[in-house]
Amino acid sequence: MQVATGKSILNGIAIGPLRIYKKEETETTVTSGLTPEEEYTRFEAARVKAQEQLGELYDKALDEVGEENAAIFEIHQMMLEDEDYLDAVKSIIETQNATAEYATETTGENFSAAFAAMEDAYMRARAADVKDISRRVVNILSGREDADMLSDQPAILVADDLTPSETVQLDKTKLLGFITRHGSSNSHTAILARTMNIPALVGVDFSDDWDGKLAVIDGYNSCVYIEPAPELLTTMEEKRSNDLKQEALLQNLKKKPNVTLDGREIKVYANIGNAGDVGLVLQNDAQGIGLFRSEFIYLDSEDFPTEDQQFLLYKRVVETMAGKKVIIRTLDIGADKQAGYFGLDKEENPALGYRAIRICLTQKKIFKTQLRAILRAGAFGTVSIMFPMIISVREVRDAKEVLEECKAELRERGVAMGEVEIGIMIETPAAVMMADELAEEVEFFSLGTNDLTQYTLAIDRQNPKLDNFYDSHHPAVLRMIKHTVEAGHRHGCWVGICGELGADQTLTETFLRMGLDELSVSPAAILPLRKKIRGLDLSKEPET
Ligand code: PEP
Ligand code: MG
Repeated sequence: MQVATGKSILNGIAIGPLRIYKKEETETTVTSGLTPEEEYTRFEAARVKAQEQLGELYDKALDEVGEENAAIFEIHQMMLEDEDYLDAVKSIIETQNATAEYATETTGENFSAAFAAMEDAYMRARAADVKDISRRVVNILSGREDADMLSDQPAILVADDLTPSETVQLDKTKLLGFITRHGSSNSHTAILARTMNIPALVGVDFSDDWDGKLAVIDGYNSCVYIEPAPELLTTMEEKRSNDLKQEALLQNLKKKPNVTLDGREIKVYANIGNAGDVGLVLQNDAQGIGLFRSEFIYLDSEDFPTEDQQFLLYKRVVETMAGKKVIIRTLDIGADKQAGYFGLDKEENPALGYRAIRICLTQKKIFKTQLRAILRAGAFGTVSIMFPMIISVREVRDAKEVLEECKAELRERGVAMGEVEIGIMIETPAAVMMADELAEEVEFFSLGTNDLTQYTLAIDRQNPKLDNFYDSHHPAVLRMIKHTVEAGHRHGCWVGICGELGADQTLTETFLRMGLDELSVSPAAILPLRKKIRGLDLSKEPET
């Protein structure tokens, strides 16, 4: 058995034979007997045909992966209208008396190299797109057709790279998963794979002798096993069959409203820790993301993530969610979540210490970098900002003031940003007791029951010795939740839960009766919770 690692695009398992696909590379003739005008006319005709093909691909993608994701083909159409690109082709034809094929191919390579060298990760990912459109035009010009990437047998496709158009065109009934040597998890190909629920790994250094061998993509652990050992294969098959059971449940419940038998509706959102989890959110058909724990971006970094780095990650999540709500919690670092480069002091009581909003309001530069990134991502979908560990009205006002400063800075820079909804986490008893006043400041509350239990019961959630005492069903905790919902509603705020308690099905009925508007849970808990909600009847007396 051989194991190779890469970057996982989707948490899932694929099992099957590997099929290595190599693109046909034909020599392009550099010159012909035609005049430059005739060559440019040929290019122009091929370009028009390519635009038509891209229009058809857009329609196909629209059906399969939705408007936001299909938009890549509109971007491709725009690239084929880009004046710099067209001028470059023309100039090569004229100055070198070149064929349209040669001029297009060379322009594609030059532009691709220029994109690849850019600092900005989003622009770097465009290198593949410009190559893709150029190859399309060259194929039309030379009558060349790319060979079928998959044979009749379902397989895991292995290729140096996959373009977005190749990914959409692949026959999904034959595609078990894919592995590429190049490509970023930020590319549109990755977004499409995630949206289509295809387990995939990028950045895998594969060798040609893998062709035809049995393999397992383990998207949960970002690796591929070639000729897996029998025991491992059995484990993976079980994992895969669990995934399938989950999917079957999903098929049943997908797109059905989260409504009780007597018609009470509640939103079911997902909690995520990083951008890569968004595939799971879609797989489980969450209505939105109720908690994006942004601090994991910081914990995954060696140094403070820049505004652009964060923007790209948030944008990826927001774009993939295609208009559904994404609630990004601002940095909740400190206590159990430590990153060395913050240089935080060791504290006697870290859970009660310098953490979350307290750091952000003290080290404003860090806070503002994140807020600008979130505001910019807001231009690509529906984004909410949520401040953690709030204990007072003053903190919320200060945070909102910093947010306004960030908006002004972006306006000055002429950068697009979106309207963002503002909310806070209710995870301290102080916030519960101040809920009426706090609700006047924000549009929503999300109860962080993990910390709320810790602070209400004075029990360190990190201390395993106290597990028996950490009672999240404690009446004090439940009363805090009820009080928060009532106060929120009195002042027009919607109220949800994003702590672990939201997924506790023994409390689902209680939560619905309390009037909670949303429950945000881990992706795997969404479908079971949805099933539970749809089986409840609140018109009946509660069971005791
Ligand atoms: C919570 O405290 O309930 C919560 C959702 O935040 P975290 O678990 O990240 O502290
Ligand atoms: Mg918390």
